Amino acid sequence: MSLLTIDGVSKSFGHHKALHEVSLTIEPGEFVSLLGPSGCGKTTLLRLIAGFMEADTGAIHMEGQDLTGLPPHRRPLNTVFQNYALFPHLSVLDNVAYGPRRGGASKQDAADRAREALLLVGLADLEDRYPREMSGGQQQRVALARAVVNRPKLLLLDEPLSALDLKLRKRMQIELKQLQEKLGCAFVFVTHDQEEAMTMSDRIAVLHAGRIEQVGNGAEIYRRPRTRFVAEFIGDANLVPVGLDDAGRTRILSGGSRAMIGTAVLRPEHLVLTPLRAHPPVGDVLFLDGRVENVTSVGGVTNIYVHAEGHDLVARRLGLAGSDVAVGMPATLEVRWNDLHVLADGVA
Ligand code: ATP
Repeated sequence: MSLLTIDGVSKSFGHHKALHEVSLTIEPGEFVSLLGPSGCGKTTLLRLIAGFMEADTGAIHMEGQDLTGLPPHRRPLNTVFQNYALFPHLSVLDNVAYGPRRGGASKQDAADRAREALLLVGLADLEDRYPREMSGGQQQRVALARAVVNRPKLLLLDEPLSALDLKLRKRMQIELKQLQEKLGCAFVFVTHDQEEAMTMSDRIAVLHAGRIEQVGNGAEIYRRPRTRFVAEFIGDANLVPVGLDDAGRTRILSGGSRAMIGTAVLRPEHLVLTPLRAHPPVGDVLFLDGRVENVTSVGGVTNIYVHAEGHDLVARRLGLAGSDVAVGMPATLEVRWNDLHVLADGVA
């Protein structure tokens, strides 16, 4: 049985429909990210699972139990908020022990469990500190310890790393994933950061305007996006119109000469700059002739902007540009047919 089943859930605020018949299942021990731009409904979905608000239609079940009408504290799950929500007047240990104490544990038992949770998040030696005496990353760990102290089967996290600087955030992404694996607890993690979702998730649900457009692991969503929105939200995408040639094969359209059957995605790393038609086209490769319009190098990566056969495309390679690439040069891009992915909603 799935751990959590969200079935046809909708939610409106006044005339604004924030969620449209959303369905999603979460398996035990799974790390699932809800990924999408601001306002797409991620937090609303998380709040419905947590019980801070109720859905207009649809149902949410956890291990077969209908959660409708259950207040947040009676649901067998826990939530970590963006702002940590620590008690400022309690020590770290007491912050973490608060939940077990409220649940009826003895002082000693609650403290033991809190120490165990603090050990898990690497804060065993800071139990006497107060939240104001800790860095943002440490406070974040306290919030996590507090959320896992009762060993919930499901933890909901709403952009928990967004207040941290980039370097710390990247470290915490890895730590959080390791913690999740150690605990064997399922995480539903809200983020608008596609790299973050890719780094941590077993599966990603991509939300757009209140609907889930695609659910899959990072590689599936990157390699085989279903929609134009997903293709453009995850990584960089060259979108090109495609049609059929006389032999019935998909080809990239350069003008309006042939009927468009859809839109295809070409990822920048799949466009390879080659010397002008150095070798004749073979079955699984196509060539696009054009000119280099711009070249940028960031870190160890070079982006080469090429206008080819009516399309503005970007190709990417590791390393610096090299002498074979300069603005204004004629250029041919080589693409493998297998790397051309046609979108399901491409013609619209
Ligand atoms: P962000 O990343 O900015 O937090 P989000 O994807 O989490 O965005 P939600 O907070 O779920 O988005 O909001 C979805 C939509 O519903 C938005 O248009 C938002 O303005 C609206 N909304 C959310 N909560 C309420 C509320 N309590 N009352 C009215 N409208 C709301």
